[in-house]
Amino acid sequence: MTTPESQDQLYFALQTFTEVNRIITSSHNSDETLSRTVKMIAQRIHVDACSIYIYDADRGILILKATHGLDPSTIETVQMLPSEGLVGLVLERSEPVQEFQMQEHPRFKAFPQTNEDSFSSFLGVPLIEHRKSFGVLVVHTVEPRTFPPEEIQILSSIATQISSLVSKALLLKQLDIATQEPTTSKNKEGKTLQMSGQPVAYGVAVGKAIVLKQSEIDEPLKSSSMTFQEEMSDFQAAMDHTISDTLELIDKVTDLVGTEEASIFHAHLMFLEDQHFQEKIKSKIQSGNTAAWSIYQAVHEYLLAFAEIKDPYLSEKGSDLKDVGYRLLHYLGHEVLSITKKTGILVVRQLLPGDIARMDTTRIKGIILSSGGVVSHAAILARSLRIPAVCLEDHELDKIKDGIPLAINGDTGTAVAFPNKTVLKEFKQLLVEQQDYYEHLEEFRDLPCKTSDGVRISLMANVALESDQIQLPRYGAEGVGLFRSEIFYLSLDRYPDLSEQTLFYRNLLENIAEDKPVIFRTLDVGADKAAPYMGFQDEENPFLGYRAVRRQLKQKTVLKEQLRALLLATGQRPNVRLLFPMITNVTEIIQAKLLFEECRKEVEATGAKVAKIEVGMMFEVPSAFLICEKFMPEIDFCSIGSNDLTQYVLAVDRNNPQISDLYDPLHPAVLQLIQKLADTAERHHKSVELCGEMASDPDGCVILVGLGIKSLSMNAPLIPVVKKRLSEIALPAAKSLAQKALNATSPEEVREMIRVNFPDSHS
Ligand code: PEP
Ligand code: MG
Repeated sequence: MTTPESQDQLYFALQTFTEVNRIITSSHNSDETLSRTVKMIAQRIHVDACSIYIYDADRGILILKATHGLDPSTIETVQMLPSEGLVGLVLERSEPVQEFQMQEHPRFKAFPQTNEDSFSSFLGVPLIEHRKSFGVLVVHTVEPRTFPPEEIQILSSIATQISSLVSKALLLKQLDIATQEPTTSKNKEGKTLQMSGQPVAYGVAVGKAIVLKQSEIDEPLKSSSMTFQEEMSDFQAAMDHTISDTLELIDKVTDLVGTEEASIFHAHLMFLEDQHFQEKIKSKIQSGNTAAWSIYQAVHEYLLAFAEIKDPYLSEKGSDLKDVGYRLLHYLGHEVLSITKKTGILVVRQLLPGDIARMDTTRIKGIILSSGGVVSHAAILARSLRIPAVCLEDHELDKIKDGIPLAINGDTGTAVAFPNKTVLKEFKQLLVEQQDYYEHLEEFRDLPCKTSDGVRISLMANVALESDQIQLPRYGAEGVGLFRSEIFYLSLDRYPDLSEQTLFYRNLLENIAEDKPVIFRTLDVGADKAAPYMGFQDEENPFLGYRAVRRQLKQKTVLKEQLRALLLATGQRPNVRLLFPMITNVTEIIQAKLLFEECRKEVEATGAKVAKIEVGMMFEVPSAFLICEKFMPEIDFCSIGSNDLTQYVLAVDRNNPQISDLYDPLHPAVLQLIQKLADTAERHHKSVELCGEMASDPDGCVILVGLGIKSLSMNAPLIPVVKKRLSEIALPAAKSLAQKALNATSPEEVREMIRVNFPDSHS
């Protein structure tokens, strides 16, 4: 191996990368790609042999996949455990290993059929992707020699550069194998079947169906033939197992994706340790019932209470409880869902977060569900683990039989059973694009968001659940663009008192750096967000009814308590802003501000000092846009709620799946209102941010920036996606697209226009 001494090592590695790229595009299949790659590396760095070994996780072995220098007939037949050989040592340690005279190393394992006896020295470096070693790149020389650090560095750089290309080649190979049968299958069942449902988690996947049978747990036997002590000890044992199982899950998920996702399981621990929950079960056992029935019954009672709540975030807590209940019952011998060890696309009616976390997620290529929406914790986990997922209707899901080939697209919510050649070709292309896309995304995390001509756009996070706030630094959020305070209220069974609220808001503010803005929205309840204790009456049209600020202004005590708590929690912290939801008339914002001023005086009268808090309003009702000029003197900033705006402008219920095809914020009518507000606010020197889902829509963000919106707030994990998208367009181009969009006839026309502008994009 000769070091390109005068050459910059990185440049050398990059050249290699370009060459590998060229090899890939001109090869006919993945085997050819790998074999040409090892040959090229051997020639470029002047070694006598170069080989690639890949770790097959399903079988737990390392396999020789390509070689230049060893006997090529041994490809696929040379196999070893990771605990064997020098190659295994590289994988185990996940770092380079070299040996002057490899036969002398205690870990050396001989494979005489490869002719390796003729070589002396060994240098192996790991192939790493997503921080995991999945293979080893090995070079040999005939002459015994020591590789100096620069050479090890060069081989490591090459390994880094080719890792994703190698894994892509393997992916395509796996795909070929996994989908060989359907194209030759002649039976009736083998007909390609397209199914469309809801997108749950982005991405595409191809693989065999793993249909998991799932039943609701039958009511366990009620009366016990054992003593109270025996039942209690069974209950306690189940409790102990479930707690330690949950702790393991927290570790596993933290390791896999991070602490915020793991916090889903903290909620499980909380349920398990909850005194009321335990007492409820205990008292049922005391009345002569079995531990299993008592758990089943207690969980059921809680679930009924959760079912009353319409808020999707809270109903998710119901599925957490179900998860916990099922785990407890599992340890008492009642099985609901068997955890699979197969590799493929999981097909199951409902997946609880614990199920997904318990499985070997490297084997789950995709998920098809028939219940649990986009906000379900299982969906959140699937997205974080980058497992594509779609939700189909029950009758569609029932058509999928175990073992049949499937392709799913989590971007569009479609699934194809028995994909034919054309479909597979399209999916292969999408898979390669997807992998490229993820690689790029990593680079965007820590960069400021800018358009391609350098215009800064601020990207903030929407926070609802406590766990959301931890995500801010991880995804590079520049602040909280929307704190949905109502979620805290909805998680309780009564209104929180002043000190509880103050503590909660203080915790939130303390966890976010002071230079980052936090936009705090007052209680936005009513319509789809209500808790039983709030005493809402049935309304004919709840979305047009007694909600948000309309209710706050009539229930002044609740609003004032919230405002006082916010003032107390804010103290001297700068950058806190206040936002009132669903303002329709100017009088409403004037009244709300007066109440806020009253509260400020009351709080200051106690001696507390409070920093300046800017006051803004949500623009989400069409009337407010049409007379936005009139609001300007009353507010410090504007926040657009495009979710509600879209439903009010288009008269399409945002939660009704039957008309979801009509719900699109890129409708020119919605865009025209946004433009009117953006222009008016600019004239009045007021900032405008948008915090609806449109901000993270790859098409929406482009149009919004073109309309002059410089601040967007969204679910934190989508921030890198938007950063990447906006980096691909210059402001004048976004403006010209936005102008055309304003004059378009339909949202479809707007999206098509954008698609033409981003022909290579995978979003
Ligand atoms: C909106 O309406 O766009 C918004 C951000 O508020 P929410 O979704 O909480 O109604
Ligand atoms: Mg809203």
